[in-house]
Amino acid sequence: MATDWIQAKPEGLLVVPAGIYLDPSKPVQQAIVSHAHGDHFHPGCKEIIGTPGTIALLKTRIHQGKSPIFKTLPYRTEFTFGGVTFTFLPAGHIPGSAMIYMTWQGMRVLYTGDFNPQPHPMAEPLEYPEGHIDLLITESTFSGKTFTQLSPEEEWKSFRERIPQGMPALLGVYALGKAQRMIRTILDHDLQDLILVHPFIQQYHEVYQSLGFQPGEVYPYRKKRPERKGHTIVLMPPTFFRRMAQSGKYHAAFVSGWDKRNKQAGIVDWLKISDHPDRQQLCAFIEKINPGHLWPIHGDFSPLEAWAKEKGIGLAT
Ligand SMILES: [Zn+2]
Repeated sequence: MATDWIQAKPEGLLVVPAGIYLDPSKPVQQAIVSHAHGDHFHPGCKEIIGTPGTIALLKTRIHQGKSPIFKTLPYRTEFTFGGVTFTFLPAGHIPGSAMIYMTWQGMRVLYTGDFNPQPHPMAEPLEYPEGHIDLLITESTFSGKTFTQLSPEEEWKSFRERIPQGMPALLGVYALGKAQRMIRTILDHDLQDLILVHPFIQQYHEVYQSLGFQPGEVYPYRKKRPERKGHTIVLMPPTFFRRMAQSGKYHAAFVSGWDKRNKQAGIVDWLKISDHPDRQQLCAFIEKINPGHLWPIHGDFSPLEAWAKEKGIGLAT
């Protein structure tokens, strides 16, 4: 099958007939961005096209230098460039996150960006495309890992029981996405827990609310805070987390599919919660899509390629 109308370039994935890049990591003229995480867009692009949720989050993130021209297109709305028709479908990863469905000369391609097929309190639920997919370009972050994701609610419940009495918990989270998911999960379990956050996390609260998501009540880490009967949970972005974990004053855990436990660095626990599919969920997703060809990107995908060969799914070359 001719898949050479989408090519991997140093800037990102180029959709050749349209002259547009998907999720470029370098400045380009025109980019379609799947979601607002930093490894999926470059602020130096001339024009960025995304869902309303993605563009609202990008406007919060890009506030230095010359801003790109932003164009918003809602989910499930077709738009055409150079004969290629593009449609955004919800990806279930963070607010506004989209899989990009493309058709050109009768060929149908799905690019997942980052996606999550499980229920998620802080993202629009993933929607599968209709009809046959000739080529699936998929993220494969955890394709070779044995990390198994339980429900985040169960994971939190068992973590909470491990917090020593009277000791605050410190969670390492990415400021956009993981933080808001954790806030909602903590408060849904027990409203008596007190959540303190870094301003980098709090800056997204208003955008989330404007998009119809309610992460829940939090307080700035350094300011006066109310008394609560439950645990005190401090949420910090990675750099601040690592610094604070070293003090030994907290029951510290990084929230991720990757195991970051390190007693010497003060990281004593692990919260196995990810907004990416674990290996089993990734394989189930691919089997459900049942594509003509598979093109895994991001991560160590050789185990996934071996699995695809066993299943008789062709690999894009
Ligand atoms: Zn992401």
